[in-house]
Amino acid sequence: MNASAVPTRVAVVGGGIAGLAAAHALLSPEAPADGSPSTPDVAFDVTVFEAQDRLGGKIRTSPFAGIAAVDEGPDAFLARLPWATGFARRLGLGDSLVSPARGSAAVWWHGLQPIPEGLLLGLPTDVMKLARTKLISWPGKIRAATEVLRGATSLESDSIGAYVRARFGDEVHERLVDPLVGSIYAADTDRFSLTAVPQLADLAGKGRSVLMTARRAPAPAASDGPVFYAPAGGLGQLVDVAAARIVELGGDVRVGAPCTTLEADGAGWRVDGEHFDAVVLACPAAQAARLLAASSVAAGLSRIEYADVVMVTLAVPAAAWPERLRGLSGYLVPKPMQHLVTAASFGSQKWTHWRAPDTGSGEQVVLRISLGRDGLPVMHLDDEQLVAAALGEVSTQIGVDLQPTAVRLTRWQRAFPQYRPHHHRTVADLAADLPDGLVLAGASYHGIGIPACIRSAEQAAGMLRQRTRAALA
Ligand SMILES: Cc1cc2nc3c(=O)[nH]c(=O)nc-3n(C[C@H](O)[C@H](O)[C@H](O)COP(=O)(O)OP(=O)(O)OC[C@H]3O[C@@H](n4cnc5c(N)ncnc54)[C@H](O)[C@@H]3O)c2cc1C
Repeated sequence: MNASAVPTRVAVVGGGIAGLAAAHALLSPEAPADGSPSTPDVAFDVTVFEAQDRLGGKIRTSPFAGIAAVDEGPDAFLARLPWATGFARRLGLGDSLVSPARGSAAVWWHGLQPIPEGLLLGLPTDVMKLARTKLISWPGKIRAATEVLRGATSLESDSIGAYVRARFGDEVHERLVDPLVGSIYAADTDRFSLTAVPQLADLAGKGRSVLMTARRAPAPAASDGPVFYAPAGGLGQLVDVAAARIVELGGDVRVGAPCTTLEADGAGWRVDGEHFDAVVLACPAAQAARLLAASSVAAGLSRIEYADVVMVTLAVPAAAWPERLRGLSGYLVPKPMQHLVTAASFGSQKWTHWRAPDTGSGEQVVLRISLGRDGLPVMHLDDEQLVAAALGEVSTQIGVDLQPTAVRLTRWQRAFPQYRPHHHRTVADLAADLPDGLVLAGASYHGIGIPACIRSAEQAAGMLRQRTRAALA
């Protein structure tokens, strides 16, 4: 039988990057990064349902202070992981990818302290490089240096905090690892899975002592290649181009179309009454749990927790920006020093095109300030309180009286799933219990960054392709 003569109807619930990547992989004749077959032998008829009136989910790019495109959420993806770069290239955006300037970053600990060298996501790999930092006290440095003498640490708790505190002491954890990893995921790393951060888990899993392991197999020298990429038009360009390509390939993309009911109908699934052979759930786990309330997986899905964050974007006169801060990409605020601000990113020093034109009051520079994380709620505060906190805290921390000429506030409710210890087991159990014809994709499951979301989407599409091929054989 010619399998491609039988189009299989697939609904994709969620038009964030995972949903779009899944739809693209189902429709596209090009090979995804995981090496699945490049020429589809099964034809899919794909409909994307997006609840909001715009696509992109956590990716949102809009004009700000006279600059055409300033991201309100993520502003770049990791270049060393192939999935996002590959996706962008397959969409024809390869030549449009730009990288932020390589500035240094700091941690605010009674002043801006440069992040020492020789760290892997905050974990020291060469304790001598900690010697000069003012971030760690001498007793803290001595405690870190004794890591080589300590007996093996059990990985059973699967908590980043428990592991790092046991190996290197509280200061290294609270002033280096927690700010670095915690700022990526808005996490409290005492309650975040070690296994979910592969770079740390690899190092921890290779031997008794991190320092000895790193000495035996030093990390390859940092390449001169880019660490991050983003399309020149901001990450929103990836969303726009992906959506246009899906439509070109015959997909149906519906915005303002929340999926409210999902019911098995014997031959497949009914999405708000419409029949589909299979469904990719590319919405956050909390929404998937609501749709599958009658199923045994609902409880597991609803146990995945989230942290909310607020992003305040400011334009301030470049003339007021001090020389001593030039070359710095931003800074992180460790928990013992936090009020509401967790990090500030000096956008114009990362992205050369993020400089607001002179419209009479001189050139402006752009800052992005993050507030809130797991365990530090912010959503109950009104916009005025949040902007006042951002301005007040950052002005004090950098010693500049910030007088913005433009302010934008973006609320990201359920911004980051929190991978609690043993998250991988929770997800494996969910996958095993999932009713036939459903697959999960997106940030709630196998990685939070954009590359991981795209990988999970392409794997979900590959799984559906295989199952469909087997069913039609
Ligand atoms: C402030 C911030 C900064 C970040 N920075 C970075 C970064 O620099 N680099 C990086 O790699 N990652 C970053 N991330 C993480 C990354 O952006 C997200 O994890 C990723 O975009 C999530 O994609 P997703 O498609 O899984 O989910 P989402 O983007 O959440 O998309 C899910 C979509 O499903 C829709 N939906 C929900 N329920 C329904 C329903 N019932 N019916 C239809 N649609 C529904 C939602 O409206 C949403 O559009 C950042 C995230 C945030 C919030």
